[in-house]
Amino acid sequence: MVMVAYMFFGMFLILAGYFIYVAGIMGPKHVNNPYNKLVGLLAESVVRGSIYSADGEVLASTGTDENGQEYRTYPYGEEYCHTVGSIEEGVYGLEAACQYDLLSSADPVWKKFLHDMSGKKDTGNSIVTTLDTKVTRAAYEAMEGYQGSAIVMDSRTGEILAMVSRPGYDPNKVSKTWEDITTREDSPLLNRATQGLYTPGSIFKIITLYEYLQEHKEDAASYSYECLGGIDVDGTGIHCSNGTSHGTVDLEDSFAYSCNCSFVNLGLTLDLTRFQKTAKQLLFNSKLPMILDYKKSEFSLKDTDSDFVKAQTFFGQGETLITPLHAAILVQAIANDGMAMKPKLVSKIVDGQGNTVKENKNGEYQRLFDKTSAQELKEYMKSVVDYGTAKRLQGFTNLTVYGKTGTAQTGNKGIAHSWFVGFAENAATNQSYTVVVVTESVDETVAAPSVSVTKEILKVLD
Ligand SMILES: [Zn+2]
Repeated sequence: MVMVAYMFFGMFLILAGYFIYVAGIMGPKHVNNPYNKLVGLLAESVVRGSIYSADGEVLASTGTDENGQEYRTYPYGEEYCHTVGSIEEGVYGLEAACQYDLLSSADPVWKKFLHDMSGKKDTGNSIVTTLDTKVTRAAYEAMEGYQGSAIVMDSRTGEILAMVSRPGYDPNKVSKTWEDITTREDSPLLNRATQGLYTPGSIFKIITLYEYLQEHKEDAASYSYECLGGIDVDGTGIHCSNGTSHGTVDLEDSFAYSCNCSFVNLGLTLDLTRFQKTAKQLLFNSKLPMILDYKKSEFSLKDTDSDFVKAQTFFGQGETLITPLHAAILVQAIANDGMAMKPKLVSKIVDGQGNTVKENKNGEYQRLFDKTSAQELKEYMKSVVDYGTAKRLQGFTNLTVYGKTGTAQTGNKGIAHSWFVGFAENAATNQSYTVVVVTESVDETVAAPSVSVTKEILKVLD
């Protein structure tokens, strides 16, 4: 009898040793590869943990049916399909990024031993996200009828309160609807917030303005330009939106009204070598601190480019491409005196009893702007809401909004992507919320749908 017990204990040690090897030494990288057999092996001994919102709601959990078969449920369906993800037909979202944590168990060794003996599984650790169900619901509903995405981030901490991408898919029915999901032209699997590369349009004027301010520290205040609605570059006409003539504009007006002609005029005076450095410093063509799959933004302005290509770049057309995530990081940094925080989706890992196993602290990522420049840009972004293209974002009870709109031409006449990037501050609480919205392929004559979406989102934060 004693022998048998020793034998079992010996076997247990070997098994335990193996799992420590698999989970600990080989580390997260191997386990997070969705196709790795080790994941299947871990899943045989651990019940995949749950995923929670910041306000304590279950976003994903594992149930067992009458035949003892495990199944994964997502109570909020499509709303979190890109952030929380899914595990049928490949693993996506946080389900993939946090696979190692969800399939690790903090059950005590004696419990694991008993589980092994009785053929039961250990309880996997759970993930507590930074996602807020109220803010996410507001963003999801405001994006109804649009393709595109919306991100809401706490500007002080980098915590992502909402990240919505539409269209989506139902993570509860992936296998059943797989053919539809993978053949649809509107790519519902794509997380547009992190993987969608868009022409920035006029939101890029923030960067052109920043560069101009850097190069004209002394005389930016005396800038003046006479906008006649069009400007000739290399024999080609560039126009302000709807052919509007903005008349005499200073730098603030140029930004608030989003005057293309003025930005071409001031852009063509810029030092391109310096501009390239600025773009690099502002994370174009760079990796981003993000645990979900994402694309790098693209910027490629060269001295040898024609003046026309250069001119287009200064107001956000041309070759430049940006993701909503990257735009959110830039704007969050401006809101936060120039310091970009690491965008955060997971706040902690907890065990089956809700005890914290690991806390994911907020962290500074990189200083993108010096404090003075960030405050200057903030003032310009205020004028956009005070008297410029985003006046509709006035009138909140507690929030003051700062931002920039964009209408990015798509090449199809009359069809554009609408952008809003900015942040809303509550002076009483010192809270600040970064909001980035892009609505794809909308009718250009409809007034900035992304501003309308932003307004709906901010109502729940006001
Ligand atoms: Zn103009």
